[in-house]
Amino acid sequence: YSSCLSEAVVPLISPKPAYFNSIESGETEFSTKRRMKHLLSFQRYYHTSRLLRGLAPHDSGSLYLLDDDYLGQAAHMLSKVGTWNFDIFLFDRLTNGNSLVTLMCHLFNIYDLIHHFQLDIVKLHGFFGMVQKDYHSQNPYHNAIHAADVTQAMYCYLKEPKLADQLTPLDVFLGLIAAAAHDVDHPGVNQPFLIKTRHHLASLYQNTSVLESHHWRSTVGMLRESGLLAHLPAEITRVIEQQLGSLILATDICRQNEFLLTFREHLDNQDLDLLDASHRHFILQIALKCADVCNPCRSWELSRQWGERVCEEFHKQGELEKKFDLEVSPQCDHKVDSVPAIQSGFISCIAEPLFEEWNLFTHPSLLSQTMLDHLDKNKAHWIRLLKPRTLAEEQTYACAESCDLWFYAPQQNRYICFYVLYQ
Ligand SMILES: [Zn+2]
Repeated sequence: YSSCLSEAVVPLISPKPAYFNSIESGETEFSTKRRMKHLLSFQRYYHTSRLLRGLAPHDSGSLYLLDDDYLGQAAHMLSKVGTWNFDIFLFDRLTNGNSLVTLMCHLFNIYDLIHHFQLDIVKLHGFFGMVQKDYHSQNPYHNAIHAADVTQAMYCYLKEPKLADQLTPLDVFLGLIAAAAHDVDHPGVNQPFLIKTRHHLASLYQNTSVLESHHWRSTVGMLRESGLLAHLPAEITRVIEQQLGSLILATDICRQNEFLLTFREHLDNQDLDLLDASHRHFILQIALKCADVCNPCRSWELSRQWGERVCEEFHKQGELEKKFDLEVSPQCDHKVDSVPAIQSGFISCIAEPLFEEWNLFTHPSLLSQTMLDHLDKNKAHWIRLLKPRTLAEEQTYACAESCDLWFYAPQQNRYICFYVLYQ
């Protein structure tokens, strides 16, 4: 619990600015008592800390409230959980908002992980429930449906013929849990926002992979609290916790180039040996990164919904920044940064380079080909919707049409292409 405790102690030393109160409640004035509660962290349940309340029964497995028809449809969807056109939004509605718990239980059964690791089913369900509950349902994008979507994509990648036979039960266990928990307790604002508002997590994690470190330490806290791994030797538990960290930290988009270069090098040298545990771990990191940014590889209807949701979250941050007289972050100004501009930049800069390499690794793969086909069509669709209004959009438009050399500038947290950089 060391991390949970240290996260709790830090804000008492450095009070959290009012912005975070506003994120959670929409109010700027609080009673002292309520303010103290919010000072602790953006974890909504902190005032009923699990450390204090123990293993109280949670209410997230409320499948019983649904009628048989809904459950029947959800079960039918689960029978096709490995297909790429799986509609996670529909599945979430059919499970009454329990898509993540339902999906994880199903996948753990498919892989027989409960038997293999001798897991206690009540503790397992408790752990999944905690993870699902600690996602913020008010976030348009970084919520439990995104986690379920990433987990479903991860499952599709774990099934790739190139990979499936080489994976050990531990690889699958780590891959699924990392996918399910990789954004847990996401506050709906990005790292630059946490840094410029001097949020305690930014100082705790020294302005580096701040959110990802928090997702990881929260996951470890929940694993320990659930007692899910308590029956395993301490050394194995330590390895599991470390490897979950290495997987979740790989989703930091600022490290995209580092991973892409290493991946390319391996593919060029053809030296990936999946019998080697460290190479399998690297591929799991890449698979999780792909799963995390796979929205543009879905069909247009699903892809569009995700694109609009993530931009809504950016724009909400922008509104918050304006409200508190902070400089509006790149991509967060709804008057400047349109959904098509953000999406076409993201596809060209982040998704496309990654999925092209993934296609080389998984070749020949029907799934990778399908994903690249969707990606191409969706990119063209967003570019068609791009109506240049500002100079920045004119440039984006020109780039999207004429230049494929995009890269991500972490300092500015925006996509830039060489055309803009050198003109
Ligand atoms: Zn994510």
